[in-house]
Amino acid sequence: MRENEEKKQNRDEPKGALRRLAEIQSIAETTLSNLSLDHFLNNLVGRVQQIFMADTVAILLLDEESRTLAVRAAYGLEEEVDRVRIPVGQGVAGRIFSERRSLIIDDLSKVEVASPILREKGVRSLLGAPLRVQDHLMGVIHVGCFRPRRFGEEERRLLELIAEQVGLATEHARLYEAEWHSRASAQAAERRYRALVDGLDHSIVWEADAAANRFFFVSSRAEMILGYPVEQWLTEPRFWEARLHPADRENVLKEFQKLVSEGKDRRFDHRMIAADGRAVWFHTGMSLSGVTDTGTFIHGISMDITPLKQVEEETRAREAQQGAVAALGQRALEGTDVATLMNQAVALVARCLEVEYTKILELLPDGKRLLLRAGVGWKEDSVGRATVDTRPDSQAGYTLLSKTPVITEDLRKEKRFTGAALLDAHQVVSGMTVLIQGRDRPFGVLGAHTIKRRAFKEEDIHFLQGVANVLTNAIERKQIEETLRQKTTEAEEANRLKSRLVSIVSHELRTPLNAIIGYSSLLKDPRFQKDPAKLKEMQERIYENSRTLLELINRILDVSKIEAGQRELSLELEPVSVSDAARRAVSNLNPMGDQKGLSMEFIDDASAPTIQSDPAKLKQILTNLISNAIKYTEQGSVAVRIRHQPEEKKVCVEVSDTGRGIAEEDLPHLFEPYYHVVATESAPHKGTGLGLSIVKRLVEALGGTVDVASQVGSGSIFTVRLPYQIPKKEDSSSQKE
Ligand code: ADP
Repeated sequence: MRENEEKKQNRDEPKGALRRLAEIQSIAETTLSNLSLDHFLNNLVGRVQQIFMADTVAILLLDEESRTLAVRAAYGLEEEVDRVRIPVGQGVAGRIFSERRSLIIDDLSKVEVASPILREKGVRSLLGAPLRVQDHLMGVIHVGCFRPRRFGEEERRLLELIAEQVGLATEHARLYEAEWHSRASAQAAERRYRALVDGLDHSIVWEADAAANRFFFVSSRAEMILGYPVEQWLTEPRFWEARLHPADRENVLKEFQKLVSEGKDRRFDHRMIAADGRAVWFHTGMSLSGVTDTGTFIHGISMDITPLKQVEEETRAREAQQGAVAALGQRALEGTDVATLMNQAVALVARCLEVEYTKILELLPDGKRLLLRAGVGWKEDSVGRATVDTRPDSQAGYTLLSKTPVITEDLRKEKRFTGAALLDAHQVVSGMTVLIQGRDRPFGVLGAHTIKRRAFKEEDIHFLQGVANVLTNAIERKQIEETLRQKTTEAEEANRLKSRLVSIVSHELRTPLNAIIGYSSLLKDPRFQKDPAKLKEMQERIYENSRTLLELINRILDVSKIEAGQRELSLELEPVSVSDAARRAVSNLNPMGDQKGLSMEFIDDASAPTIQSDPAKLKQILTNLISNAIKYTEQGSVAVRIRHQPEEKKVCVEVSDTGRGIAEEDLPHLFEPYYHVVATESAPHKGTGLGLSIVKRLVEALGGTVDVASQVGSGSIFTVRLPYQIPKKEDSSSQKE
């Protein structure tokens, strides 16, 4: 109702140009203040309707793509708005647009312009104008009346003026919209970028002014990775430089300089110190964004590659360890002695595992203690002295027992064993130990220990075991070499003896044998057969030489029997009077001494008791010594003296002579088989060099000792000391086991 009244009022009002100008002014202001095009256009159609007192108003805008005009705002035509799309050139609006000029139609029904909607709506008269800004056409505005009306020129100019304003406003709004869109999409892009940048796992995205040495953007992950608030990055001058790992600082600064001077992207690895003091590894890639009067801008991304580096470093460490073990093995093969090898091994373990203490404990023969044979870190004087019990309540003892590697992370909490005094004294907390095998029994234990708590890894154990294996091999090889060397010496000795035997056989045995053969052939000679005295002499010579031969053979047999081993010397023990045995031996050999004009003496000791001994062996001993004394004495005497030594529970026999004596250099070898003093003209060879060696073996079999004192030219004294009882043999075979 009110609207109609208003319309009526307006219609009644005189069409004052002033008023219309005011309207345009207000429209122009609206265009400036209104930034939403639709809002502005809707507002506008209402005003235009009032100005022209029209029944319909429509503003159609060009859709560039389809080259059609679409109603964007309308009055009196509202319900049609959405479906109206008029191709350029068609209908009233299309014609206004294509002809680029305003149009007045007095009676629509009389014109041949297809305008079904307008006709449908009952529009009779119409005034339309193109919307444009200078040459740029953007749409059409038209006003219509249901009753026939003749729009005048003034009205046409008014609409054209309005159309101009609308054109401006549309353009303005469009520009604004475009601007708004681009700004919004830029903001969205910025938001997306930030989300992306902040969401980058393990990476810090940053932008900085290299000239000012200052960050102006840092992604929020920075705080998570290094622990410094982003704020600090942005405000603290030289923040980055101060947080670089000292070892990498120089290199990183060089990279920056290169980037700025050469402009090429740089990539490099470096460490930074985190707020909690950790060293964090980064792979940084950076580019130059631009150089202006105000600064040198660079941006980059730094990726946290600490885990990667750790793996890399661990791999490198493992490789170094393997190399070190191989080198140690090589040295062992080259024959480095075991002591040096042990020192190298403990140093190597300390270096490769970065531990404070390393040790090699050697199991001592008593099996009860382990000796610190080699080590690193222990207090002075510990190496070569400190011992650890083999009881399993120490880590080393436990390792010996379990025969497997033993790791302890905290000795104070260990339940399997307690720390040995050595470990306690050095504040050891963590450690691992492995067995060093020997050929027949464990050689000992190899260990690594730390003061700080440490969880040793599987690979560490493998490394330690590798070192222990090298030692095991070296020790075993040395043991084998030692046995081999002994065997070789023995074999050489046996060989030497054999050659001596051969020479004895060829020289000593041949002499009597040749004599026998010679005399025997003479026996057949008829000249001798007629001479009974000669025959008798020859028979005696043959007999004498045969005896010598037999004696020689017996001695050789004796020696080889004794050589073959103590066990074959079976003793037949009974109570024996050494005095009686000596007296008998002297009287037996009296004729031999008499022959050489020597005085033979026997001095007894009545206190000497009978002893437990083998009479046959004793006789052999005494006969040998006394006959030697006679053999090597040309004048003077041979004396045999018995001496009782009750405090030592021994009975001694001294055989002394006034003969040629023995040179000092020969004394140590006298009792070796086949040894005889170099013959001289004054002291020709008289024996096989076997007698004294037999004496020594027999005396020892009887539990006694024999020694000699002599001086060249004045004589010799051989002393045999025999115990009351032959001590029970500590079974030598059991000792070896
Ligand atoms: P042989 O059969 O040569 O006598 P022995 O083993 O009995 O062998 O003696 C070794 C060497 O010791 C002899 O060759 C001799 O030179 C020296 N010898 C042994 N007994 C005496 C002694 N009473 N006086 C001087 N030399 C001796």
